Amino acid sequence: MTSETPLSGFTTLRTGGPAGRVVVAETDAALIDAISAADAAGEPVTILGGGSNVVVADDGLPGTVVLVRTRGIEVSVDACAGAWVTVAAGEPWDDFVARAVAEEWSGVEALSGIPGLTGATPIQNVGAYGQEVADTIARVTAYDRVAGRTEVIAAGDCGFAYRTSRFKADPGRHVILSVTFQVPLGSLSAPIAYAELAQRLGVAVGERAPARDVRDAVLELRRGKGMVLDPADHDTWSVGSFFTNPVVASGDVPEGAPAWPQPDGSVKTSAAWLVEQAGFPRGYPEGGAARLSTKHTLAITNRGSASTADVLALAREIRTGVRERFGIELVAEPVLLGCALD
Ligand SMILES: Cc1cc2nc3c(=O)[nH]c(=O)nc-3n(C[C@H](O)[C@H](O)[C@H](O)COP(=O)(O)OP(=O)(O)OC[C@H]3O[C@@H](n4cnc5c(N)ncnc54)[C@H](O)[C@@H]3O)c2cc1C
Repeated sequence: MTSETPLSGFTTLRTGGPAGRVVVAETDAALIDAISAADAAGEPVTILGGGSNVVVADDGLPGTVVLVRTRGIEVSVDACAGAWVTVAAGEPWDDFVARAVAEEWSGVEALSGIPGLTGATPIQNVGAYGQEVADTIARVTAYDRVAGRTEVIAAGDCGFAYRTSRFKADPGRHVILSVTFQVPLGSLSAPIAYAELAQRLGVAVGERAPARDVRDAVLELRRGKGMVLDPADHDTWSVGSFFTNPVVASGDVPEGAPAWPQPDGSVKTSAAWLVEQAGFPRGYPEGGAARLSTKHTLAITNRGSASTADVLALAREIRTGVRERFGIELVAEPVLLGCALD
């Protein structure tokens, strides 16, 4: 692809200028070759999966952008250990979840409807509705650009925590080639850990439900919040949640805010609640090219003509508003490429 190709076509926010060069990698060898050739030449290189968690500068990105398009799923079933499923980085995440539910591999059903590709899921330890990929990942196979070799990294060494991992902490070092999940066999879901989902399913938190029902319920809940991609719905032209839920000292949770106690004594609160209470309602600002979703205050959306500058300006306004109202600093969830919030 030429340097004229705007990266907006490869991001769910649909903003971002061109790359110097775009390479489509359909095999692990092509992926590693493209990256190590750029590294050897001392040129910048950026890896892009589904583009659903990135904000790309309007000026574009220098050097090479490599699109991960590797495919393949390998399965090994053991009656005792469950299924070991190795998924290529370029496999669409929700296709894997749909297959897991159909094959009765339990434990990823609540992650239905999340956009993007499987290789990106360990980066920010993708999570929703009480599940995260760290619950079921057994190991990650990655090319380490510093060591110059492919490594198998056990889940315990991935540094998984809330919306982060060693891969996010050390950006660009590891090229994820595949992710291996170890999932129990069975038609029932993992215990439901999210109150809204439990209520929708008519079960108590901690109970199981048929995984198919969980997938359907999650997809329905997500659609209601504009969190399932739909080209016709501008509320989904986003990166999903723009800010992570802040984790604060227990005494610092604003009165009336949702509070989820953490094992270390800190408390996670709701970024969406803070945004709304700081004076930013759904659809804010009326008429803006970039606006909050009309379905959810945590998604900054492109109404069709927004630039990355418009998106970042709104993100800054919201972050400042929340800081002034509550003294809490919101942290951006997506990876900002060639641009910054500060
Ligand atoms: C509508 C919507 C809803 C969303 N809902 C959720 C949600 O519920 N929970 C959640 O956690 N996230 C959610 N997201 C965010 C996003 O979908 C996930 O983070 C997803 O895993 C990103 O995958 P991707 O392939 O699009 O990654 P990209 O956006 O392409 O890349 C994200 C980062 O990972 C890097 N990367 C990608 N692939 C690789 C690879 N193979 N090796 C090394 N680095 C790589 C990129 O360089 C970049 O830094 C949502 C996004 C949208 C648009």
